[in-house]
Amino acid sequence: MSAEQRVITGLKVSEAEAAAVSPAQIGTLLPQGEVEGQIFCTLVHCPFCGTVGRCTAEVQPGSYFRCLHCGALFRT
Ligand SMILES: [Zn+2]
Repeated sequence: MSAEQRVITGLKVSEAEAAAVSPAQIGTLLPQGEVEGQIFCTLVHCPFCGTVGRCTAEVQPGSYFRCLHCGALFRT
């Protein structure tokens, strides 16, 4: 069964913008391949280190994520 996959490259945010983002707004990324059986997933590229994380929901433009590898904040 093939899952629908999109790949989004994150955008770097300034320190000032990152400081204004509340933790509740920051989405969780999972390592690729860890979640089985997801019908829909989106792959998100960290713009700082290039790590690809996996989001189990549809990613809206302007969503914030924290890189699971380097911990940097970025947005889609
Ligand atoms: Zn990173």
